[in-house]
Amino acid sequence: MSARVVVIGAGIGGLTSAALLAARGADVTVCEKEAWVGGKARRVAVDGAAIDGGPTVFTYRAVFDEVFAACGARLEDHVNVKRAEVIARHAWDDSGHLDLFADAERSADAVGAFAGAEAARGYRAFTAEAQRIFEVLEDPFLRGDKASTPLPMMWRIGPWKMGDMLAMRPFDGMWNALGEHFKDQRLRQLFGRYATYCGSSPFAAPATLMLIAHVEARGVWLIEGGIHALAKAIAGLAERQGARVRTNATVSEVLTAQGRTSGVRLASGEVIPADIVICNGDPGALATGRLGEAATRAVPAIPPAKRSLSALVWYAHARTEGFDLTHHNVFFSRDYAAEFREIGSGTTPSEPTVYVCAIDRGSRSSSTLLPMETFTPIRLRREPDARTP
Ligand SMILES: Cc1cc2nc3c(=O)[nH]c(=O)nc-3n(C[C@H](O)[C@H](O)[C@H](O)COP(=O)(O)OP(=O)(O)OC[C@H]3O[C@@H](n4cnc5c(N)ncnc54)[C@H](O)[C@@H]3O)c2cc1C
Repeated sequence: MSARVVVIGAGIGGLTSAALLAARGADVTVCEKEAWVGGKARRVAVDGAAIDGGPTVFTYRAVFDEVFAACGARLEDHVNVKRAEVIARHAWDDSGHLDLFADAERSADAVGAFAGAEAARGYRAFTAEAQRIFEVLEDPFLRGDKASTPLPMMWRIGPWKMGDMLAMRPFDGMWNALGEHFKDQRLRQLFGRYATYCGSSPFAAPATLMLIAHVEARGVWLIEGGIHALAKAIAGLAERQGARVRTNATVSEVLTAQGRTSGVRLASGEVIPADIVICNGDPGALATGRLGEAATRAVPAIPPAKRSLSALVWYAHARTEGFDLTHHNVFFSRDYAAEFREIGSGTTPSEPTVYVCAIDRGSRSSSTLLPMETFTPIRLRREPDARTP
């Protein structure tokens, strides 16, 4: 008999697990508490326009290509995807803006035009280092099986590979390491911001996180319908492999028998037997007993001090003026250190760095936007004394 698997949560992670396990012959049921699939990769309706509510930057496409291939399919047959020519547009007060491009040489030229020849050399050295760190960590960590190989990083890489170990720069701070490449503080800020992609501060993160810049430099992809469309495509993939994806199905308890997982109970009272339960929800919910006493032993609790910082998100359906937006745009604060000091002390920064995803720019109709006549224009240029919340 094939293994019966229940996946709690239809986020991208849960759906991917479901598709891969079903493709290997498991009998999979996904239980999602919301009425839609995708989890954080959702779309929200704002003034009648569908807007990406969560992730917007699609990178590391190769992983998704492999997931589709493992299910005998091709990503591009299920979503309309194209490579973004401009990775992101970065802006500072009174400094114009700097675009990074899919073409690395074009990016180096842009950095040179923005901050001078030395900055362009620094950029080339930085990208080479970021690539090296990525290559050291891709197999043992990014693609590594953390659940069945909870080994310290040193053992995963191989303790004899001292050069690789040092290349990761685990004991150097990211901000200092960036200072070796960039004298221009704006560039230090730009590449330090990548630490925030995994909830870290560039002032507290290890230099290892410079690898994120390489992930993005390898390619940013635009999906018609946003990343929610990708989630729906993976749900379809899982279903074609025989998985059942149930929405409006909240799991209230993970059940056990003879010290092993035996299934889940839904909020409706229905019991679904299972040999394996995968929780795609917040591991903290398991540890704090939200899914029953028995499941608390599955993962350690995460103390508040160990949690990552998140983001404050606004959705707007608006006409813009004053700045030529591309799909991904970043408006940097004037004092990055002060911004992270405020976040670290638990307050909302008085002048935050703001990422704006203009979902109707740079991709083929990735949203369904209403006519704009009824909306107040938003000016995206900071007034001299304004401190935007
Ligand atoms: C505003 C924002 C912007 C982001 N931007 C990016 C980006 O640009 N690029 C990027 O790569 N990443 C980005 N991320 C991160 C990315 O969205 C997440 O890493 C990813 O979507 C997480 O997927 P997941 O499957 O692990 O979890 P989730 O998407 O959180 O899915 C968990 C699912 O479990 C369900 N669930 C929980 N408990 C239960 C229960 N008891 N019963 C049934 N169902 C349950 C939830 O409803 C949810 O659907 C962003 C995140 C946010 C919030």
